[in-house]
Amino acid sequence: MTYQLPDLPYDYGDLEPHYSGKIIELHHDKHHAAYVKGANEALEKLVAARDKNDFSSINQLEKNLAFNVSGHVLHSLFWQNLTPDGGGEPEREVSGLIDEHFGSFEGFKGHLEHAANGVQGSGWAALAWEPMAGRLIVEQIYDHQGNVGQGSVPLLVCDMWEHAYYLQFHNEKADWVKAFWKLVNWDDVAQRLKKVRRLELGLDHPVTA
Ligand code: MN
Repeated sequence: MTYQLPDLPYDYGDLEPHYSGKIIELHHDKHHAAYVKGANEALEKLVAARDKNDFSSINQLEKNLAFNVSGHVLHSLFWQNLTPDGGGEPEREVSGLIDEHFGSFEGFKGHLEHAANGVQGSGWAALAWEPMAGRLIVEQIYDHQGNVGQGSVPLLVCDMWEHAYYLQFHNEKADWVKAFWKLVNWDDVAQRLKKVRRLELGLDHPVTA
């Protein structure tokens, strides 16, 4: 299998009371697992299409690949973004860049919260590194793959699909976002930023960071 379901970095119930163990169990074992399965199936069906030279389903296969691989990437990131010891504010490099690119931590927090709560249908809000300008941006992602700029790499993601919160928060999705802040693993974000900042798109255009 090309794609595999990662283990959770904590037990199902470890993020309680902020995030229910039952949601995490279903979310990881069923939803995330389904995206991993879907990503592998899409690759296999593309192999078969090439072998038979039958591309009649190409649009659906490419959409399935993008949807499921993106679902796998975002959930893999989401689990690592959370920790029982999370919350508070970032330090050093992350804090400095958030101030530089969003004005202040409060400005960033309000921006991400509105992006999350404003998602129409299913989607995500993300703090992402945009390598063209070499800066942090907030993205509002539709489904798993829509409305994102090419080249951007998500660092911190908040799942705004109903399966992520409905069992615990019902229709009060803003309460889910409030709980999310209490779980954010800023050390994880800092480690990822350090690696992702070195990303270049291979263009002549200089990366400004
Ligand atoms: Mn999800």
